[in-house]
Amino acid sequence: MTPLRRNVLALLVRAGEPIKAYDLLDQMRSEDGSAKPPTVYRSLDFLMDVGLAHKVEALNAYIACAHCHDKGGAELYICGKCGSVDERHGAPEPRNAPDGFETERSVVEHYGLCAKCR
Ligand SMILES: [Zn+2]
Ligand SMILES: [Zn+2]
Repeated sequence: MTPLRRNVLALLVRAGEPIKAYDLLDQMRSEDGSAKPPTVYRSLDFLMDVGLAHKVEALNAYIACAHCHDKGGAELYICGKCGSVDERHGAPEPRNAPDGFETERSVVEHYGLCAKCR
C-alpha cells in the first residue's frame, strides 16, 4: 500500500458517499499539487482489485468498501433522488453464471428510492 493509495482510500472513507475521480483529484491537489488523473485512476483500480473500493457505474463515482468480499459480490442500492448508496453483501455465487465461468468479483446495482426519499 503506497502513501498515494492510502491517501485515496482515506478520502473515499472520509467522503462517506460516492465521490467522482475528479473530486478526489481536487481534494488531493489541495495537499499535493502534483497529483495527476492517471495516478488517481491507477490507485482506484488497485483499491477495487483488493476489494477496498467499488465503482458505482450509475453515478460514475467511487465508494469505500467496509465489507469483506471473500465470498460473494457487492450489491449497491442507489437512490435516484438523493444519490445515497447503501452497500450490502451479494449472494455467495451468481445464480445465472454460464457453465465453467469463474466469477472473480461482481457488483450489482439496484436503482430506486431510499426509505428517506419515498
Ligand atoms: Zn464492498
Ligand atoms: Zn434517497
